[in-house]
Amino acid sequence: MYPDLNSRSAKLYERGRSVMPGGNSRVGVMFEPYPLYAASGKGCRVIDVDGAERIDFVNNWSSLIHGHGNPAVLAALAEQSQKLLAVGMPTEVEIELAELLCDRVPGIEQIRFSNSGSEGVLMALRAARAFTGRAKIAKVEGAYHGNADSIEVSVAPSPKSFGSPTAPTSVAATEGLTESVLRDTLVLPFNDVDATRELIVSHSADLAAVVIDPVVSRMGFVEATPEYLQMIREVTLELGIVLIFDEVFSFRTGYHGVQGRYGITPDLTALGKVIGGGLPVGATGGSAEIMSVFDQTIKPLRVEHGGTYNANPMTMAAGLASMVQMTPDAYARLDALGERARSGLRDAIADAGLPGKVYGCASMVSLIFSNEPFSNYRELPLRRREAEMVYMLHRYLLNHGVQIIPHGMLILSTAMTEADIDFMVDRARDGMREIATTFNSGSSS
Ligand SMILES: *Cc1c(COP(=O)(O)O)cnc(C)c1O
Repeated sequence: MYPDLNSRSAKLYERGRSVMPGGNSRVGVMFEPYPLYAASGKGCRVIDVDGAERIDFVNNWSSLIHGHGNPAVLAALAEQSQKLLAVGMPTEVEIELAELLCDRVPGIEQIRFSNSGSEGVLMALRAARAFTGRAKIAKVEGAYHGNADSIEVSVAPSPKSFGSPTAPTSVAATEGLTESVLRDTLVLPFNDVDATRELIVSHSADLAAVVIDPVVSRMGFVEATPEYLQMIREVTLELGIVLIFDEVFSFRTGYHGVQGRYGITPDLTALGKVIGGGLPVGATGGSAEIMSVFDQTIKPLRVEHGGTYNANPMTMAAGLASMVQMTPDAYARLDALGERARSGLRDAIADAGLPGKVYGCASMVSLIFSNEPFSNYRELPLRRREAEMVYMLHRYLLNHGVQIIPHGMLILSTAMTEADIDFMVDRARDGMREIATTFNSGSSS
């Protein structure tokens, strides 16, 4: 049972705390009172250090599109590891993964690799600034784009500081940022067409780029409306502003990426997560014209892009083996599993008599225990009661063979079958019934 202060996980957590602040190196893996420590994984299942096995609906926050131990990925890694782990030379496998991505993604004519999605975003921002000669960038309120300074702004700002709904205040998402970062990052109200257009136009003389993830994971996968994206594409084209899609998370939604789903082509695209086949990866791709700022054969070099592990052959081999398996049929199968999960969870919510809606698309699912509609950060139902219900469901599922992202998100993998989805839905239904009983008996406050 979780929690159990005598478990190996609880003990490892105590041990970790003495050498690492907070016990580990990654804010997202923590939950109270202690995180579970992983021992091994196979297919869609992960086993913790106490031997408990769960279906993994976390999938390393989206990066594991084939779950754990995908045979083709392991074979590619075994073969590559016999040749080279990392080397101070380019390799052919880097070109192969680049060719695959350039071929599939409409907005990517050329691409360069790095080691994290954060770097993919960072290099896109830098390319946009170099290309336009402008300093500012714009992002939507409530979206996360990794840990580069200039984008760690208004990720989850509090109502006390977020300012006007039509001209949101730039709020530092973390300590350690400077005033100049806040000055150079413009915050846009998601899905507000008129206010966003006005902000972009009024800052256009200084605005290098608009960064957007059309399916915002931090907001329960709320999607940009087609009108919103269309407006941003038109106004950025008109004003010479670089449009960057951050598809680090949402690239898993389709063969042509999220831009293929919407039929809107950005100037630059940041990638990460799934394209590394489970290994650390990031990438920045886009039009050959903008990407030429990275071309070291053009003197003087405009944007220096180095990195000891950029395009290391292990990541490239795993990424290629992983993406090659993601055929249109594989996406279709994964989408169908996602639909099965969403409709099953909707029925489960209704059965339990709880308020709630299920969001998401393709292989991404999110659950919010509220019937209030929302289309942007400020409308997100994030009150104490809803948060408490999600927390209880996470806890219940941990004790019944299912692991989800603690704030109510589920990410699918090709290693799952319909039976795995149904198992999750059945356990979630039981958990929701228990939650309904608890809340109806007046323990809510
Ligand atoms: C995960 C993520 C990032 C950052 O990628 P890392 O590999 O964690 O640095 C950036 N943008 C989005 C939308 C993400 O989900």
